[in-house]
Formats: sequence, C-alpha cells, structure tokens
Amino acid sequence: MIPILMYHLIDIPPAKGAYLRGASVHPARFESQMKWLHRFGYRGLSMRDLLPYLRGEKRGKVVGLTFDDGYVNVMQNALPVLNQMGFTATNYIVTGELGGANYWAQPKGAMHADLMTIDHVRQWHAAGHEIGSHTVEHVYMDRVSEIDALRQLTESKNVLESLIQAEVESFCYPFGAEAPGVRKLVQQAGYSNATATFTGLANKTDDFFALPRISIIRSTHPVRFMQKCFTQLEENKRRKLVKY
Ligand SMILES: [Zn+2]
Repeated sequence: MIPILMYHLIDIPPAKGAYLRGASVHPARFESQMKWLHRFGYRGLSMRDLLPYLRGEKRGKVVGLTFDDGYVNVMQNALPVLNQMGFTATNYIVTGELGGANYWAQPKGAMHADLMTIDHVRQWHAAGHEIGSHTVEHVYMDRVSEIDALRQLTESKNVLESLIQAEVESFCYPFGAEAPGVRKLVQQAGYSNATATFTGLANKTDDFFALPRISIIRSTHPVRFMQKCFTQLEENKRRKLVKY
C-alpha cells in the first residue's frame, strides 16, 4: 500500500472562509512533512518514478508526491525543499492558463493565485521533476462532450511535451471529476496513469487511471500527517471524494 500525497498551494493560508484556504499548506509545515518522511526513511517520488513500485516491480519505502494546478508558490516554496531532500514530484499543469491564474476557482470564492509560466514548467522538468497534465481549461471531465474531453487530454499533452521536449504520461482529473468512460479516454490519449481525489492508499489492484490519493491540507498536523500516510484509517478505506 503506497500513499500518493495530494497538495495544492504551498503558501501562507488566506483568511478564514476563503475557498482553497484548506488547500494551502504553510511552507514551514510542508518542509517539516518532507523532513518527517526523510527521517522515517521514505522517499518522495513523482508518479512516473512511483509507477514501478505501484506495479510491484520495485520495493522500497516510497511516497507519491503530487501538486495540482501548477501554482507559482509550489515552485517557490516546495521545489527547494524537494531538491534538498532528493525527492521528485509531479506538478499537474492547466495548459490554457500558463502564466495565468486560478480563474476557475475564483467564482467559488478562492483568492487569486498565480500559475506557473512556460519558464517555470521548463525549470521544474529540468530539476528532475515530472510535468503532468491537468487539462487545458480545468474542466469537469465527466461533464464535457467526448470530443472536448479528448481535446483536453491531447492538446494539453502536446503543448507540455513540446515545452519540455519529453513525454508527458501522467494526468490528474480537475475537481476529481471522472467516470469509467473518461478513464478510457485518458488511456486512449496515451497517458500511463491518472490520479483522482478518492481518499486512500494506492496498490497494484487499483485502476491506474483513477488512483486514490491522500489529501494534505492546511490543518494536517505532524502526527496526523504520518497517520494519514501510513495507516489504514477508516477514512482511507471509505474512499470519499474530495472536490478541489
Ligand atoms: Zn485542479
């Protein structure tokens, strides 16, 4: 059983009541979480690096590290920590908003947060981390037409691949919105894996096109962090859906 951690923003959390406040992990807390993993002998890996462990081809103390949306604050506050620890991580990019902002979340009351530029994407990749796709427009993949769903998958993949000159094989469903038909399209578009927002530890019997994750939020304290990652909590078994 392998935890795949889901992060969004690594920044000082916004004021109470703001949407995404819960999804903002303080930089100091993020650093301490990575240090805890390191201290316990775990290695943080991007989805690409994690796949052999998920398939059971490799064994070791590993944890998947994923960041949704491609926030600039992840570049600023998480990247140096990851590099220092020798960890790798996947950053899921919304290609229609390169150098833009989280406009899809603002009508829900989220604060403005800048998204990575083309240069940031290249820097992330050049540092040995993985770039994944999070669609072109951060859409609900279970609500768009099949043609649009395929476009969201292939266009974002092509754009990212041409930017980094490397294969993009990992996908993440915006808002965790997926369905059996959508999973097939992800596979058809040439991805090797996709993460969803079901809570739970991942294992090789899971559908690799809807992998569960462990959501790490603002209020996740250190002991709770380790419990969430490494124990089969009731909440991990229930596989409830988190909607970001
Ligand atoms: Zn997202």
